[in-house]
Amino acid sequence: MKDPIEEVAGWIITSQRIVVFTGAGLSTESGIPDFRSPGGIWDRYNPEDFYFQNFLASEASREKYWQMATEMYEPIKKAQPNLAHVAIAELERLGKLESVITQNVDGLHLKAGNSPRKVIEIHGTALHVSCLHCQKRYDREMVQKRIRDGVKAPACDHCGGPLKPATISFGQSMPEKDTERAYSLSSQCHFFMAIGSSLVVYPAASMPQVAKRGGAKLVIINREPTPLDDIADRVIHGLAGPTMDSLLKEVKEQLNPSPPSPSS
Ligand SMILES: [Zn+2]
Repeated sequence: MKDPIEEVAGWIITSQRIVVFTGAGLSTESGIPDFRSPGGIWDRYNPEDFYFQNFLASEASREKYWQMATEMYEPIKKAQPNLAHVAIAELERLGKLESVITQNVDGLHLKAGNSPRKVIEIHGTALHVSCLHCQKRYDREMVQKRIRDGVKAPACDHCGGPLKPATISFGQSMPEKDTERAYSLSSQCHFFMAIGSSLVVYPAASMPQVAKRGGAKLVIINREPTPLDDIADRVIHGLAGPTMDSLLKEVKEQLNPSPPSPSS
């Protein structure tokens, strides 16, 4: 059987429209805790305070939300792209990336150098804040400064509406345009690679299925098995960073084979 890295690298080279889909595995490899894991942040807060309807309805919920969001923001602010983010940015430079669709809210694909037009953050971003009334956007750091100064639930300068990090909360609908674009790119791509996602959160997890039905080759790279492993053309169980690093090296090697050494 062919080496999986060689085989997948070959598919990247021969495919025209490549879509990469990334999940929490990439964030954890950059040191951002997985908030859903046991002992995680959710054990210390009541999830009901974080439903979008409650955020809208009560000042007390908004205060608790911001308390938790501030705690989650600290590691995100410090995180740096890892080898997987770097490899995906490099695929774009090589002309081998139609789009990267991410479930992560940490902005690390942009930090790694992917251009904003290529990145679709389907769960939003923690690096911005938006007003729920007038949609005015603010830099997250600017709003965090107000929290540090003692504000418990910040409000919009422009209209006084409640401010919320630009991430998608429980009960809040997915950004319609971005979701549609992600589905459309998935259904029309030739090669779809899901990296570091357990592929269980819908609707995001249906994107690999949409790609496969559209005739794309499907590759899954994840530490643990996923429910979609059976329909994938190739599954690599491993960490995202080292796997993507090997894959990128192999792609470059196949694009520009090193000359044979003089002795051979
Ligand atoms: Zn406003």
